[in-house]
This record gives sequence, structure tokens and C-alpha cells, in this order.
Amino acid sequence: MAELRGGIDLGGTKIQTAIVEPGGKVLGEARRPTPTSGGPQDVADAMAASLRESAQAAGVETASLQGVGVGSPGDVEEATGVVSGARNLPGWDGSFGLGEALSEALGTDVRVGNDVQVGVEAEFRLGAGREFESVLGVFWGTGVGGGLVLDGKPWLGRGAAGEIGHMVVKRNGAQCPCGRKGCMEAYAGRSAMEAEARRRHEDGEKTDLFKLMDKHDKPRLTSGIWERALDRNDHLAEDLIHRAIGALGTGVASAVNLLDIEAVILGGGLGERFGQRFMEPLMREMRKHLFLDDNPPAVRVATLGDLGGAIGASLLFDR
Ligand SMILES: [Zn+2]
Repeated sequence: MAELRGGIDLGGTKIQTAIVEPGGKVLGEARRPTPTSGGPQDVADAMAASLRESAQAAGVETASLQGVGVGSPGDVEEATGVVSGARNLPGWDGSFGLGEALSEALGTDVRVGNDVQVGVEAEFRLGAGREFESVLGVFWGTGVGGGLVLDGKPWLGRGAAGEIGHMVVKRNGAQCPCGRKGCMEAYAGRSAMEAEARRRHEDGEKTDLFKLMDKHDKPRLTSGIWERALDRNDHLAEDLIHRAIGALGTGVASAVNLLDIEAVILGGGLGERFGQRFMEPLMREMRKHLFLDDNPPAVRVATLGDLGGAIGASLLFDR
């Protein structure tokens, strides 16, 4: 059983864990909410507990695993497993030795990678990107994350490559959650879209978005709420989604002009929900900016779903 790996996807709202065979088959899984108070050690404790639960479901001991891979938000130093500035997580503005803490708790080797990058590698190896050698992953969710595989190898740059969400699509444009202006994420990220919807609603534009949010007891405008609003032809929702698609098409086409990758994999909460529905307008927007507009890359929607991040994290042991 020494070849089994653990995978942990650390998200802002939930921790998803799995026990995974080298080929990607999941033998046991568990999930729990990400702690909203305390600090990094509390998050690490919850991660370890969830991984133990997965191991129990798979009938193995964590110490017998080849190792445990982690996909983490924030700035990840792969060599040391130190994670810094994971601002969606409680008390995590500074640096924390996540790899070391988990290794101690689980009694096995731990490797930490960037959450979006490992998700893209999972799609590349086992999902929507299987038939390609070079892919750009675009994870359209709360923010817009990205990851790159070039000629079959992950491209990490100096550690921070793939930040497609912060491609500038408009100089001095809308305010981005990153503090800069005009980034793709400032138009397409779910939290930026929600902020813009709120501003316009307060300025008197009519929309059912916030009524739907309250009715379905959601703390924010989830991808499901956006979908409901679109289904009832909510004008503001349609306008903001098309604004997002415009920004995505512009930013992704710019990246394609530079890299000429074979395929773009669209993932994330909004990407998986709306990728098919808005494929036509997205391709149209991309073509406007593609230097080779008669030869666009394939655009595919991610196929691994909720477990993709945890499976991708386990693949850190194949790098
Ligand atoms: Zn930005």
C-alpha cells in the first residue's frame, strides 16, 4: 500500500481531502468547513483530521501513505512547505510552516503546492486537458486563478507564474481585489462582480440578485444565485456576466498570443457552471484579440469537479 497518496485541497470555505492511487483513483474522501477563527495551526489541525477521516474510509493509516500533497492558497514556497499571506484564511497574514505541521500530525512526507496550479495539473493529467501537451488553466471563481503546463511540464516561473487574473485588460480600469486597477479579476472575479452589483443596485438599478441571495439563505452571490438570476433574464446579472466574459476573453487571448498553448481549461465555480453556456460569446471575445484569429486554441470546461484539487495535490508526488 506504500504507493497510495493523500491529497488535500485547502479552500477558503472548505477543506476537501482524499486518498488517491497513483493513477488518480480515489479510495476514500472527506470534507469539512475551513475554520473561520483561530489561526494557521487550527486550519492545519482541521486538515489533518479530515485527511485521517479519508484514510479511515480507505482502510489505511496516514503513516503508511507515500506522502500527502496539499494545494494551498497564498504564496507557497514548494521547497519548504511554508505558506504566507493566505488572506482568505483566519490569522494567516504572515508565514506558517504548513508542510512541517502536517508532516508531524500525519507521520508522513508532505508536499505543498499552489491550489490552482495543482488543480490545473490534475485536469492536464486526468481530466479535460489529457489530449494536450500545453495548457493554460483558468479557474474562474471568487477570484480568477491560473496555472500553466508547457510541453508536459508545470511552469511555475520563480514560484508565482500563472496569475492570469491579474493580466491587465484595461489600463486604469476597475479596482481589483489585489489593490491594482484594470486586472481581468476586477471584472470577472465573483467577489468583484458582487461588489459592482451592490454598487449599481444601491445607485438604483433594478435586480433580483440580492433578493435571490436572501431567499436561498446564501451569505454571498454564489454561482448558483447568478445562474438563477440569468434564468429569469435579470438585466443587471446579464450585463455583469457579459462584462466578465469580455474581460476573460481579452485576458485569455493576450496570454494565448504570448504562449500559443494548445488548450485553455476553464474551471472554478463560475467556470464549471457557465463554461458551456457562454462558450460562444467567450470564443467571440477571444477572437477579437487573437493575433492568429483563424486558429484559436481549444477551450474545454474542467471535468474533475470538486475532487480535482485534492487529486491534483496528490500528484505532487509525481513531479
Ligand atoms: Zn489584480
